[in-house]
Amino acid sequence: MNFLSKFCIATLMSLLATLTYAQPQPSELSLIQVQDDIYVINNPFVPGNVTLLLTDEGVIMVDNKFAWDYDNMMTMIRSITDQPIKYVINTHYHGDHSGGNARAQADDTLVIASENARLKMIEANQPGLPDVTLDEHAFVHLGGKVAEIFRFGRSHTDGDVVVYFPQHRLLAAGDMFTFGEDVPQLIDYAGGGSARAWTRTLDEVLRLDFDTVVPGHGPVTNKVELTNFRDDSIRLRVRTREMVAAESSRDEIREMLINEFHWIDMQFPAGLNGLLLELQ
Ligand SMILES: [Zn+2]
Repeated sequence: MNFLSKFCIATLMSLLATLTYAQPQPSELSLIQVQDDIYVINNPFVPGNVTLLLTDEGVIMVDNKFAWDYDNMMTMIRSITDQPIKYVINTHYHGDHSGGNARAQADDTLVIASENARLKMIEANQPGLPDVTLDEHAFVHLGGKVAEIFRFGRSHTDGDVVVYFPQHRLLAAGDMFTFGEDVPQLIDYAGGGSARAWTRTLDEVLRLDFDTVVPGHGPVTNKVELTNFRDDSIRLRVRTREMVAAESSRDEIREMLINEFHWIDMQFPAGLNGLLLELQ
């Protein structure tokens, strides 16, 4: 892993604890066209990816990075459409996915998230609380197109949703799926995350019919890679349980997580504590 990605992942992990309190420095963003009317605003690792569905009546957006990325993000969006952003869906409460909410609301964008995510945002005193929340499933219709929101269960946090675009066979997965070389699965135990529930949650997601997947962080990819990630989520638990049963030391388990699952310094001790507690 090179220095930059280590730095970025470290930044991401500190976000799990500190949310919106990172240093406000606009990120270097790139705009990627995925389909005729679907774009992704990507960047080197942090903040999270943004997905845009363009329609003749406005834009549906998934996640909105940090507050300090808002102006750059909007300039980028204005290069592809004059339509207003009608809806932004936060996949979860972390500040690198919901930090633009207050600015968005000032621009008359309706913010949607799970009720659990909204509760976490209240606990963390985050600005821009969602206007509309869902428990398990919602449809967002705009300009003859549709985005379906699903909360299947716990994974990265207890409030993660995926956004499914059935007409486009595309899924915006949020941090339920992080993708790329040496990128770990990020379990936010303080945010209600669960390694044990994660696989079940992904099994529900994988029943949906899609080809393209926008991960929470990393390049746009496909359903095969999401399936691989799901398999790795099982392997993580199996390997940890094996080592606990063999009475391996905490340090040995730590080494295994680093070597086999690319865990990084910031995931210790909270991530390891949570995992051992959950799997005992
Ligand atoms: Zn996150």
